[in-house]
Amino acid sequence: MSATTAAMSATSAVSPAVPFTVPPFAPDAGPAVQRVLRSGWVTTGPECAAFEAELSAYLDQPHVVTVASGTQALELSLRALRLDPGAPVLTPSLTFCGAVGAIVHAGYRPVLVDVDETTLTPSTETAAAAAARAGRPAAMVGCDLGGYPVDHRALADAAGLPYRRVVVDAAHGPGGDVGRGAFFATCLSFYATKNLPIGEGGAVATDDGDLADWLRSARLHGMTRDAWRRYLPGGSWRYEVAEIGYKANLTDLQAAIGRAQLAALPGWQARRAELVARYDAGWRDAGLAEVVRVPRRHPGHAFHLYQILVPRRDEISAALADAGIGTSVHFIPVHRLHGYRRVLAPGEPGTVPVTDRVADQLLSLPLYPGLSDAAVDLVVERLAGLLAP
Ligand SMILES: *Cc1c(COP(=O)(O)O)cnc(C)c1O
Repeated sequence: MSATTAAMSATSAVSPAVPFTVPPFAPDAGPAVQRVLRSGWVTTGPECAAFEAELSAYLDQPHVVTVASGTQALELSLRALRLDPGAPVLTPSLTFCGAVGAIVHAGYRPVLVDVDETTLTPSTETAAAAAARAGRPAAMVGCDLGGYPVDHRALADAAGLPYRRVVVDAAHGPGGDVGRGAFFATCLSFYATKNLPIGEGGAVATDDGDLADWLRSARLHGMTRDAWRRYLPGGSWRYEVAEIGYKANLTDLQAAIGRAQLAALPGWQARRAELVARYDAGWRDAGLAEVVRVPRRHPGHAFHLYQILVPRRDEISAALADAGIGTSVHFIPVHRLHGYRRVLAPGEPGTVPVTDRVADQLLSLPLYPGLSDAAVDLVVERLAGLLAP
């Protein structure tokens, strides 16, 4: 063993690894998958329908349509708005790139909205400023970043948009106050890192029956609504396609996992809240309340991420990685990504100065139901050591 290897393994022996994320799986998820495998029907079918009904009750929304991903939920919802090609659509730059990619793939033009430094989400002022720049925005995609329950109605009012032109990106929302307000669509993600993980998957929640009907067809090639039954006993091979659709359906295997996960979600959220409180207390006890800045919270927060703003972020995340502690950044603003810069109007990147300022300080710390109290204490202790003057 070389000296370096020996030193490295000595370090990892004293500092147990704290991964950035570990997806929780309910004990019934495995048996649920077995049940579906034995049933002879593995793709979109009765499990998806049952998951949709359960999500609908959970979110208190009349319709839920499952789709392949959160990104597809956004893109299909945006397409369903049937805006003119190139129509300006407001979006924070501080969001997941795929959410802005959905606007572009739907054929529209993203117009960036800056964020408020204390919430990391748009304010009525930044929404109004972006709307004024866009001339007349056609729609808005709002994002509950980190689980912060954004007041999308207030933002729509400030931007002069009706609520039916708002698509809410609630990828970080499950477990918090999501899906309320008469928005066009609320989009969920069941990606591996999210509060309700399946691995992959997404859904649209809406009170608009026409949108739900269109999505049910659009997610499966545009075939008539019940075409998924065509291979079931008694099903007919006949179908019609009124409008060419997409391949964006969820499978029954995924839905069965999702159903087990949804039942476990309240317990996981309670644990997330405890962990958040422990981090908060940790900064106070370590005398770091002034150095480690934590975004403002609001009742209904989904505690998806534990984000902080710290000086020397890159150096600190690298040092934490050396100590076996995983961190991440949510997000690289899209105007800093080449592919997105190409599709943005030339002046757009200069319109989000607060986003640019926080982008270099943002750090997300481990937060998931399986994280131990000791792991939180270790992260706080390491970070305190790194931030000590
Ligand atoms: C994860 C995520 C998405 C996309 O969800 P996928 O299911 O991965 O397609 C969209 N927006 C935000 C803010 C996300 O974090």
